[in-house]
This record gives sequence, structure tokens and C-alpha cells, in this order.
Amino acid sequence: MSLVDVRSWTPAARSVAEAARRFLIDVCATHGSLPVTAIVADHGDSGVRIRLRFGGGEVEGSVSARGDDEDVCTEVAERLQSVVVDHLPGWPECPGHGHQAVSTRLDGGAVWLCPTEGATRFAVSVGHYPRPDVNVAS
Ligand SMILES: [Zn+2]
Repeated sequence: MSLVDVRSWTPAARSVAEAARRFLIDVCATHGSLPVTAIVADHGDSGVRIRLRFGGGEVEGSVSARGDDEDVCTEVAERLQSVVVDHLPGWPECPGHGHQAVSTRLDGGAVWLCPTEGATRFAVSVGHYPRPDVNVAS
């Protein structure tokens, strides 16, 4: 079970909190038993700070939270990915490839993307990462 603990209600913090929620949905899709809490607090000019609390430890990152919600989500996914890889090496795995999917902004919004073959191979919205027991190949 995961949750987002919002400590600030500025528009930037709310946008980051929603992005963190989508990120945690994806963590749960692949690591359902891993409890994670994301603590979101606005720090003014220095950006929005996100602390991720795992069972055993805590990692922290901050984001500028510029642009629209999907830009913010792309930034949050990238930032949080860079801090969780110490706990979840290679996360998230590009299905069928074994390498790490990357977070990027496509026309439709923030996505996880196959870094070598792009959207023709694998692209899903952040917050819709496929569970391992779902076959995503068509
Ligand atoms: Zn791939």
C-alpha cells in the first residue's frame, strides 16, 4: 500500500503530488507488496521536494515543477526514477527487453518509453504501467 502525504497546497505542490501518485501506482503495479509513502512539500524558489519513504529507508529529490501537469509528471517520474533505482535496480523494466524504460513527454503526456525502439515498441502513460502478469504484446 502506498500513499502520497501532501504537506503543501500550492498549485505546484498539488501538481507534483498528482504526479507522485501516478508514479506510485506504477511502483505498485510491479512491486505490489512494497509500501511507499511520498511526502510532497513546496519549498518556494527551490522547487518542490519529494521524499520517498520505503520500509527501510528514505530517498529525496526535488523538482522545479514548471510547465503543465504532464510536463511536471515527466519531471517527477524522471526524478523519482533516479532515486528509486538504488532500491529497485533497473526499474521500470521495458517489457520483453530487460532494459530500463525512460520517462519522457510525448504529445499525449508523460509516458514510460522504450529507450531503443521508442513508442512503436513500448510507451504507456505514467500511472498505467502494465502489471507483469498482463501480456502487453499484441
Ligand atoms: Zn525496450
